[in-house]
Amino acid sequence: MGATQRTVEVVRAMAAAMEEHRAHLTKLDSEIGDGDHGTNMHRGFQATLERLETAEPATPADVLKAVSMALIGKVGGAAGPLYGTAFLRASTTLADKEDISAEDAAAALQAALDGVKQRGKAEVGDKTMIDALKPAAEAATNAGGSLAEVFRAAADAAKGGAESTVEMTARRGRASYLGARAVGHMDPGAHSSYLLLDAAARTLESA
Ligand code: ADP
Ligand code: MG
Repeated sequence: MGATQRTVEVVRAMAAAMEEHRAHLTKLDSEIGDGDHGTNMHRGFQATLERLETAEPATPADVLKAVSMALIGKVGGAAGPLYGTAFLRASTTLADKEDISAEDAAAALQAALDGVKQRGKAEVGDKTMIDALKPAAEAATNAGGSLAEVFRAAADAAKGGAESTVEMTARRGRASYLGARAVGHMDPGAHSSYLLLDAAARTLESA
């Protein structure tokens, strides 16, 4: 299977994960937000699947760009534009490459993180998806090895990062209105970041 088709498979697995975990993500968001994160992510990835049916992506970057356009176009709320930016930056980084190395994947993850940081102005410790994405990008850079190993390292780091948000108070996003009442709850966006990376890792591991 070529890299473009494998990227499509990764995105399909991400869409399936958003479907499977929709209720849980919404539950997390109803605890410290407005209870729409699962619905938002599900809607965005359903729109992505529709877009991929007619788009004829020639490169992995084209696939990621289609994800970005669907998320930006179809998802209201904070997470749509933030994830849309992440996928767009990853796409731009891969440019017209037809094969993706471990280094390319790590660079794309780092670019995705930088895009979210620029757009949302959150840092580690603010109880957002950055708490999952930053350790993920770092782990990806240090992992080396195969593409599957890079994404497995990133997903494992994102899981730890998402768990670290439980004890935090929020400084960005809706949860920041809650002050100390947000403590004890995992940030939904950090959890969805882990789920997306885990879906990518599982797909690449089974290739
Ligand atoms: P909304 O908050 O508009 O309802 P969602 O519920 O879909 O949108 O997404 C909420 C998630 O978005 C949060 O859990 C958090 O991870 C992420 N988020 C919100 N604001 C920011 C920000 N400024 N920077 C990074 N991530 C953010
Ligand atoms: Mg919400």
